[in-house]
Amino acid sequence: MEKNNPYIFSALSNIGATGAVLLNKIINPGTGSKLYAKLECLNPGGSVKDRPALYMLKNAVEKGLLKTGTTIIDSSSGNTGISYAMLGAFMGIKVKIYAPSNMSDERKKIMRLFGAELILTPAEESTDGAIKRSIEEYERGGRDLYYMPDQYNNPFNPIAHYETTAMELLEQTGGNIDYFAAGIGTGGTILGVGKRLKEYNDKIKVVAIVPDSQIHGIEGWKYNYCLNFEGFDHNKIIDDFVKVDTEGSYAMLKRLVKEEGLLCGFSSGANVYGIYKLAVKYKGNFATVLPDTGSRYLSTRVFSDF
Ligand code: PMP
Repeated sequence: MEKNNPYIFSALSNIGATGAVLLNKIINPGTGSKLYAKLECLNPGGSVKDRPALYMLKNAVEKGLLKTGTTIIDSSSGNTGISYAMLGAFMGIKVKIYAPSNMSDERKKIMRLFGAELILTPAEESTDGAIKRSIEEYERGGRDLYYMPDQYNNPFNPIAHYETTAMELLEQTGGNIDYFAAGIGTGGTILGVGKRLKEYNDKIKVVAIVPDSQIHGIEGWKYNYCLNFEGFDHNKIIDDFVKVDTEGSYAMLKRLVKEEGLLCGFSSGANVYGIYKLAVKYKGNFATVLPDTGSRYLSTRVFSDF
């Protein structure tokens, strides 16, 4: 164990290195296919977004963009906001988050418990409204007051997945991956993991799982996403797309809870549903992430209908 490391027992030192599970009940081993899924709920902030939040903030501290007295400002559909709020609490730095008002009550409560200021934006404006309003406030306050990580454009978002999530998956599967598939919020996960896996083996196919309609119930996913990270060309990384509907994703989430014993969130159900559809056509080893925990959504109708 490292000596004199102030982070050794902190939340920061426990980000990443998450476990992986084989979802044998969903993807029947009798078919010759396997599905590996990383349990991102095991991160201290409860989601995959701890990884990019840590990378973006660490880079900002190193570059002198984030100092004591600066406030972190950004938009988030929820999980990144929680990660910023957790890291801000640890670092003694203020955090201000713009988020759509219809995100789950649990997420709002967690952000506020960590001490973040939460500004709710109209639900009908979706994440785009939160993004727009956070930029307006950033421009009003300026760089002396605020640091904006800008998770939709900051390359340290996909770099976090390129350096950690992908490397862990390769180790956990012995490199035996034929397909990596995941949904898109910022695109950090699919681009970061996808790029690294393709460098390891250019035969690995990267599939984006996307909602079949603009009005969908998969928190964390963006329908009209825009992939714009320097060094991560989506045209070279994403090979194919598979569409999923919200109800089918919820039904798969229910199976994950009841059959695999995994209480995860909506996008986990959607990721696994997308792969389930792919596995009807293709055989091989599939890999994905289960981005967050279901305990973050207990108050929603989906979990009341179980
Ligand atoms: N699932 C959940 C629950 C999320 O919060 C997010 C991030 N918004 C994603 C999936 C998508 O991840 P990424 O931003 O890396 O595309």
